[in-house]
Amino acid sequence: MEVILQNLTKKFPSRDRKNREDVIAVNDFTFEIPDGQLIGLLGPSGCGKSTTLNLISGLLKPTNGRIFFGKDDVTDLPPENRGIGLVFQNYALYPHLTVRQNILFPLQNLKGKDKLSKSEMLKKAEDAAKLVQISELMERRPGELSGGQQQRVAIARALVKMPRVLLLDEPLSNLDARLRLQTREEIRRIQKETGITTIFVTHDQEEAMSISDLIVVMKEGIVQQIGKPQEVYDNPSNLFVAKFLGTPPINVFEGRIQNGQLYIGDNAVLHTGNVSDRKVYAGIRPEGFLLQEDGPLCCELGGIEVMGRDISIVSRNKASLNPAIRSIIGTDNKIDTSKTDIRFSLVSRKVFLFDRETEERIDFT
Ligand code: ADP
Ligand code: MG
Repeated sequence: MEVILQNLTKKFPSRDRKNREDVIAVNDFTFEIPDGQLIGLLGPSGCGKSTTLNLISGLLKPTNGRIFFGKDDVTDLPPENRGIGLVFQNYALYPHLTVRQNILFPLQNLKGKDKLSKSEMLKKAEDAAKLVQISELMERRPGELSGGQQQRVAIARALVKMPRVLLLDEPLSNLDARLRLQTREEIRRIQKETGITTIFVTHDQEEAMSISDLIVVMKEGIVQQIGKPQEVYDNPSNLFVAKFLGTPPINVFEGRIQNGQLYIGDNAVLHTGNVSDRKVYAGIRPEGFLLQEDGPLCCELGGIEVMGRDISIVSRNKASLNPAIRSIIGTDNKIDTSKTDIRFSLVSRKVFLFDRETEERIDFT
């Protein structure tokens, strides 16, 4: 089921006595979520992710705009008539009910032609439990389960009616690191198996990058960029997106373009072809540095961390906006740690230029 957002906007009245301006939590979203895909809504806390999800679920009414599930305009439908499954960060299970009763719950309120017999309901609950691999926990209560198991129950409950759209709001944030990794792979598997269009909200770029077919990067209620994770990483449309994606993060330098070259400090470090003379920000991915003895970019060597497959070099440069520059190179490189300086050349496609005022990307060839 594709989900189409058309000029979707949500304003909240300000609670601030001094600043009476409305908060525009979601500002004119227009995009289409393709059928059967997992889409990650990604951005820092407060950027409007939950509001977007709650508009799609029907828990909130938009100030403006429309929402379609396929050809159905669902904008004025209450949540229970939209065919959605919802999962929250805090699981929201009923503590006094068993796992089985929790999963059965959404089926018990079905009316009219949707009404199910007892045995049909039990079968559906069994199937949902099997899908998330908790069949052996059906008689327990939520208090007798680990966080990861509780989240599986919540997912089973959201899936038991086979929703048209599955909505997950930071579902992994309460889990410890290892379980988070495991559960995100699990969510991906379940999504692929069921083919249900899924919208996954997270502030964690690594999480979004690793499981999404498409990511929507948001900032202050405004969509910054939509694309496949790798495409967005390789082609960020502005400085915010470039900085938000990637670990270690991109290294940002103050630079300038002069006669078709990028200067960092006094050194021309890269040919930038057609870009006119101007001040820029230059973003360099950690994998965009090549060790080169007479390389044009000279940095003060801070330290070296060998991390199995790679070496991480920490260095400093006056023009760098990051306190420490992090470059990642292969372990086959030899580094003379007795020297105070280290020199690099740059990989052109790992370097991005941004306008100093608008912070929009400037293309170069
Ligand atoms: P996120 O989920 O990305 O952290 P939210 O969608 O929860 O962000 O919030 C987006 C913005 O809307 C924030 O500035 C938040 O303070 C504001 N906001 C959210 N819900 C309400 C509400 N019910 N009343 C007023 N402001 C709200
Ligand atoms: Mg939120």
